[in-house]
Amino acid sequence: MALIVQKYGGTSMGSTERIRNVAKRVAKWARAGHQMVVVPSAMSGETNRLLGLAKELAPAKTNSAYDRELDMLASTGEQASSALLAIALQSEGMQSVSYAGWQVPIKTNSAFTKARIESIDDVRVRKDLADGRVVIVTGFQGVDPDGNITTLGRGGSDTSAVAVAAAMKADECLIYTDVDGVYTTDPRVVPEARRLTTVSFEEMLEMASLGSKVLQIRSVEFAGKYKVPMRVLSSFTPWDIDINEEAKSGTLITFEEDEKMEQAVVSGIAFNRDEAKISVLGVPDKPGIAYQILGAVADANIEVDVIIQNLSKDGKTDFSFTVHRNDFARTMDLLKEKVVPALGATEVSGDAKICKVSIVGIGMRSHVGIASKMFRSLSEEGINIQMISTSEIKTSVVIDEKYMELAVRALHKAFDLDQA
Ligand code: ADP
Ligand code: ASP
Ligand code: MG
Repeated sequence: MALIVQKYGGTSMGSTERIRNVAKRVAKWARAGHQMVVVPSAMSGETNRLLGLAKELAPAKTNSAYDRELDMLASTGEQASSALLAIALQSEGMQSVSYAGWQVPIKTNSAFTKARIESIDDVRVRKDLADGRVVIVTGFQGVDPDGNITTLGRGGSDTSAVAVAAAMKADECLIYTDVDGVYTTDPRVVPEARRLTTVSFEEMLEMASLGSKVLQIRSVEFAGKYKVPMRVLSSFTPWDIDINEEAKSGTLITFEEDEKMEQAVVSGIAFNRDEAKISVLGVPDKPGIAYQILGAVADANIEVDVIIQNLSKDGKTDFSFTVHRNDFARTMDLLKEKVVPALGATEVSGDAKICKVSIVGIGMRSHVGIASKMFRSLSEEGINIQMISTSEIKTSVVIDEKYMELAVRALHKAFDLDQA
């Protein structure tokens, strides 16, 4: 008997028929003798629908009172799907109970819309499991120290599931979704993408942080910190497939340093359309400039990603960086109003139509020439590179958004990732 946490994403929970299928699958696992905790997402489209209603009444604001209500609102999506799943399980003859985040409780900080989990009390869930119930815990939400409902950021049910698995010391956390595992790149963009049977935790962390939305980055961080065995697999196989076959399907996230993965130098290509580029032109090239520009941005709680500073000419230089597209307008305003006048820069310009494409692989540590191969493939496609950023196991480039798919396909091919 094992303790298993299963997470089902929005598409997997997308209709009553699909919820019934999830219930049948979970019941199969429970009948095989496992203790089951299930973490569902809201039915697909529901979170967007709810947040859209709020926007109709008031355009997005960045204040805590508004964000609190967004969480109050968006969290109802998971509450509904969780209750529906418990009802479906009961109709399959399984004892089942669902809990909202605050009932467990899953305690978070008070950063509404992007709260972080601080602790999970497992007493209530354990008691139900001991009494033979399947326990459903809402994904995406928690409760702050003042009793307010919080949410964990888009895609946050992955993180709920892994955190619950860590807190319960579960034997495995299975993330069921609408693809049958982690691929070399998003299979919706490159149909030739290949499923990886294993991916190292470090690579998964890079891929998630560089834009692969198959797992929320914090879920991978949690899995790494607490060594939660984690697998991504499909909820669209027939529910009654052999349980041993199902348990081995999909993609396993591995932690063992020396366990040999599929030994490609580059394991995957990630891309991110959510960034925007800002350039401050003609700034005096003297000590403290980076700090004056980026310090002001950081003080406004805006995260900066790729940064470049050009060579100086006549004592002046250009400084460019990227931020999340949601922070673009705010950053431009801040620079124009406060920073540029103080610096004596000539101009600030912005471009929201960029994207970041990255190659990821732990094999890059021990191989030279990988980045230059990337640059060559892009140049063969006539794609201009605007910025470059590297780490031990990834190289990212910022390019014009309109070349994104072309770039991803070309790199996928160049690094021999296409399916045979
Ligand atoms: P869920 O609702 O189950 O959480 P998501 O839409 O959040 O599902 O994540 C699954 C989607 O992630 C897939 O449909 C796929 O388009 C996308 N995706 C992006 N990159 C990858 C990748 N490298 N491997 C697999 N899927 C990916
Ligand atoms: N329902 C939430 C969202 O759409 C959380 C999730 O699906 O993981 O972002
Ligand atoms: Mg998701």
